[in-house]
Parts: sequence; C-alpha cells; structure tokens
Amino acid sequence: MVQLIPSPEDVMQILRRTGAFREGHFVYPSGKHTPHYFQMPLAFRYYDTARVLAVALSRKFRLDKEVASALPKIAMISPGPGGIPVAFGVREALSAEQIYWAEREDNKRCFRQYVNQSEVPPCVIVDDIVRTGEALRETFALVKELGATVVGCGTIVRFTGAPDRIDDVRIRSLVEFDANWYDNAEQCRDCRRNVPIEHVRF
Ligand SMILES: [Zn+2]
Repeated sequence: MVQLIPSPEDVMQILRRTGAFREGHFVYPSGKHTPHYFQMPLAFRYYDTARVLAVALSRKFRLDKEVASALPKIAMISPGPGGIPVAFGVREALSAEQIYWAEREDNKRCFRQYVNQSEVPPCVIVDDIVRTGEALRETFALVKELGATVVGCGTIVRFTGAPDRIDDVRIRSLVEFDANWYDNAEQCRDCRRNVPIEHVRF
C-alpha cells in the first residue's frame, strides 16, 4: 500500500488557507520581531484539516521502527493544549492506547494529579509547533518522572533553530520552517519601514 505524506509545500498551503500561517509584522512577548506567525489552532478548528495533518504525521511514525514496534501499547503525550488535537488525531490513525496532556500550573508544566498511579506505556510526544524546543524538553522530563520512556516525538511545524532531537529521540515534522527573527526593533526590517505592529501572546 502506498502511503503518501503531503509535501511541506502542501502543508504550508493548508496552514496559509486556514489562517494558521500569517504574514505581517509581529512582536513576541520576548520582544523579538518577526515577519510571520503561526496560530496553529486555526488549522485544527476544521475537523477535516486537523485529520489530514494528524494522519500525515502518523505516517511518519509508522516509518519509525521504535514507534511502530511498540504499537498499539503507546501513550500519546501533548506538552500543552495546542498539541491535544494532534495527539487525538495521531492516536486515531495509529490506534494507540492512551492519551495524556500536560498543562502549566503556577508557571510549571505538569500532568494532572493521579496520572502517575497506573503504569504508563512507552510514550510518543506530539505538538502542533516547536519554536524553541523548550516545551518538548520539559515534557520529556515529565515523562521520565512518570517512569516511562519516550520512543518518538513529532510536530506539524518545527522551526529550524529548535533542536532536531532530544535525548537521542528524533523530532519528526511535516514542515521545517526557517524562522526569521529580529532580536529587537532596531534590527527589525519592518520597523525601519514603519509597518504597523501586531503583538502576539505566545
Ligand atoms: Zn519590527
């Protein structure tokens, strides 16, 4: 059976069409300026689009020996709310057994209380976008605290400045995006051109 994985261009087209990929002049809470922004939930609000993206990512995992050989006794893990629809979609496509997601409480990433009271199978961590890799790193640590192992990791979009592996686990992605950042307004091309600014919250 031929299993087609959409090209990065096809995925970008979906993200553009749904408004998940935006071009303009954005300022992050960190003060960095950028000419583009990903608001991934806009792609995941459409069930059909969410399904296409999740199935595509699941096909990457099917090719991953470590993941494929552990199926179906796998837990899909999302570092936060953004990855939850990805986790459910990939779970569906892989017939994986369980799903967990972490949240931020008092500025600390954690799982809900009591999730550590049963045995957690090998884990696959998935997210919608990886900008710095920090959320993934924190989630890897959480999974270890549960006494479980991470056998796979994947995201719809990965910024090329983020790590491509964590603890020897490769981060699979549908799009590798070369993000253009300016550290501040002085360096920003769009500030010099007086392009109106949009502030983004994440
Ligand atoms: Zn600027």
